[in-house]
Amino acid sequence: MDEMTLVEQLEAELRVVADAATLPGRSECLACYVARMLEEFGCNTTLRWSQRFRELRSPTATGLERRLGGMGGFCDCEIFLNGLRLARPMLVRDVHTDEVEPPEELPACAGVRRTSTRWCANWERHQC
Ligand SMILES: [Zn+2]
Ligand SMILES: [Zn+2]
Repeated sequence: MDEMTLVEQLEAELRVVADAATLPGRSECLACYVARMLEEFGCNTTLRWSQRFRELRSPTATGLERRLGGMGGFCDCEIFLNGLRLARPMLVRDVHTDEVEPPEELPACAGVRRTSTRWCANWERHQC
């Protein structure tokens, strides 16, 4: 039987840890997942987090890029610049300016069906 060297073992473990940090939660939706990953890791001007979500949850959702592109999301951060924003009930009122704005921390995902690539009730489309 092949024996892994210590270095190989360590590397294998690191991969698992790195992987686990970028897994979507049990019923976490595409938008909450991508928003969370963007906060942690940023955008690399591709749809890498959206695609990772699709690969893990819904590999047959091949129209995902088209759907995201259709609302101006050609990379992960553009989904939020052009496509989706937090729904009004998620926003908090600034007591000083009386304006509503996104909370400092992302609200917990409202949850979607496990294989869905839709977003949860926390999000709404930008008004065009
Ligand atoms: Zn981007
Ligand atoms: Zn969500």
